[in-house]
Amino acid sequence: MEQSWYRELDLDAPSPARVYDYFLGGSHNFAVDREMAQRLVAVKPDVAETMRANRAFLRRAVQHLVEVGVRQFLDLGSGVPTVGNVHEIAQRAAPDARVVYVDVDPIAVAHSTAMLAENPLAGIIRADLRDTETVLGHPVVGKLIDFAEPVGLLVVGVLHQLPGDEPLGAIRRYREVLTPGSYLALTQVTQDGRRTDSTELLKETFDGGYAKGADVMTMRTRPEVLAFFEEFELIDPGLVFVAEWRPEVEVPDPERLSTYAAVGRR
Ligand code: SAM
Repeated sequence: MEQSWYRELDLDAPSPARVYDYFLGGSHNFAVDREMAQRLVAVKPDVAETMRANRAFLRRAVQHLVEVGVRQFLDLGSGVPTVGNVHEIAQRAAPDARVVYVDVDPIAVAHSTAMLAENPLAGIIRADLRDTETVLGHPVVGKLIDFAEPVGLLVVGVLHQLPGDEPLGAIRRYREVLTPGSYLALTQVTQDGRRTDSTELLKETFDGGYAKGADVMTMRTRPEVLAFFEEFELIDPGLVFVAEWRPEVEVPDPERLSTYAAVGRR
């Protein structure tokens, strides 16, 4: 049975999942999403670069976790499938890797379901990641994730959509069930490093533009981001701006992209 907070498909309003898909060059977006994207670009011209940097971090983090032996991933706020999905990255390096995706967005879930139909080692569930007991108790999670073994918990590009302390409580609950050797990888939008008018305007545009004001952009400071990693040890290079996390190419002025990234190990 669906719960009231599920965001129903509303093609008259933009969705963050589909706007992100547009910025990554995907095709699962509508005119209303592309208009929203243009409004975001108008106030912060490097917003597309920010989203691509976020996605590139996800890829580098998953590749690293597979290299160090992680074989199961729980990807919270997984998005519309696009180039370089977690199961593709992980299973290319380790064909036995298992992935469960979690998202609230109906389009993200529909496309993920179709993409994973032939993949017995990956699944998608539609849930609010803050509803931890629904996620942890879901049969797909029960089938694919063995919490006695290390898990890569991915919370990438989603925390800015979750206001207040709720996400901290949720991540704390997920961390509780992770065995030593597990990892948490996350990104978080921030104003640290550079508090610019464009970041303020981006927030205003984001808050005003998305459906029924349900989505507000929450920035977090360095100490607030570190709080997600209690009892986890940050692996090298620690909490850095997203393009600085084990970069493959040098990005000038990385704080410009207003996003932190880190990976921690239990
Ligand atoms: N993690 C992917 C990445 O970094 O490339 C996708 C990020 S996309 C910007 C954020 C996704 O989080 C969207 O698909 C959105 O629907 C989802 N999302 C937002 N709030 C959520 C929540 N409370 N629970 C689960 N998913 C959520």
